[in-house]
Amino acid sequence: MAKAPPRIGARPGLSPRERKRRLDDRRLTAAQRGYDAAWRRLRDAVIVERGLRCDQCKRIGALWMRDATPTMPVLEVDHIISVAERPDLRLEPSNLRVLCRPCHSRRTARDQGFARPGLRW
Ligand SMILES: [Zn+2]
Repeated sequence: MAKAPPRIGARPGLSPRERKRRLDDRRLTAAQRGYDAAWRRLRDAVIVERGLRCDQCKRIGALWMRDATPTMPVLEVDHIISVAERPDLRLEPSNLRVLCRPCHSRRTARDQGFARPGLRW
């Protein structure tokens, strides 16, 4: 009996949009990813301690989203070495830096492979 021919192309590729949606569905909640109460306290302390200033563009920003303006974006705290790489450094102040949301978005895009590789901040 003849074998069935290989079914090349039987599963059409997903569009980038659909692929992203499926990835998002698999993401854990903020708390499961380690962004819990201890993290939020540390985050606020680090932002205030470092003068409400973005470490990248040196712009003064806002501690809370509700205080943000077009010229004063909300500040976020970034892990210099990602939590995925070093979970033990998650709450280590020397592994944290303050970035405004635009700078943080650029860095996150790079981490996810959408920006030029090899650029290390
Ligand atoms: Zn910035």
